[in-house]
Amino acid sequence: MDRDKKVLCQFCGMSLFNSSKTCPKCDSVIENQFHPSTLTVDVAHNKETVEQALVKLHRVLKKNQIMKHRQIRVIVGSKIIRTEVIKELKSLKRQKAIFGFKTDGENSGALIIRMDH
Ligand SMILES: [Zn+2]
Repeated sequence: MDRDKKVLCQFCGMSLFNSSKTCPKCDSVIENQFHPSTLTVDVAHNKETVEQALVKLHRVLKKNQIMKHRQIRVIVGSKIIRTEVIKELKSLKRQKAIFGFKTDGENSGALIIRMDH
């Protein structure tokens, strides 16, 4: 992270330096905001069926309502599970249960889900 770069507090929108420890306006810990934790879950490499993979996906999304990771990395492999998980994520996005998703950079066997917080 660059020192003394201006950032916006993700909670209240206050403009501050990223060397600040807490936001002067809302007291959020700034460091935590810019080290977003990513939860990783593998739904494809324990011989899961499509159904089991989707159950795992929903379980982790539910768990995240408490854990509040910003992103969830889902390892989906390259076959039918990937296709079905993408279908499911599109539908979750329509329902606004997730913010969005994309492939994990060059790694098409993993998807990054952005949560809505
Ligand atoms: Zn703030």
